[in-house]
Amino acid sequence: MKNIKCPECGGKAEDQLIKMKYDINHNHITIKNIPAKVCQKCGNELIDGHTARDVDLLVNRLSEDVDRFAKSLAIAPEKEHSISLAV
Ligand SMILES: [Zn+2]
Repeated sequence: MKNIKCPECGGKAEDQLIKMKYDINHNHITIKNIPAKVCQKCGNELIDGHTARDVDLLVNRLSEDVDRFAKSLAIAPEKEHSISLAV
């Protein structure tokens, strides 16, 4: 990725691995190691279209699996999951 400026404040955005949290059927899923540009000034996180699509696919897939798993249990306990994006 080339050097880009933050569209919010014009600050310098630098490569960083970020985390994103999702709540899928009351399961808290944290996706780690998402490559992004993070504004050093305001903290705005910029993810390119390709990465965003990968994360979306992963979250959709997880959502199906979590759903299936929850249905196989008598009770669906609230769980904390942490998944790293392989890049
Ligand atoms: Zn900014």
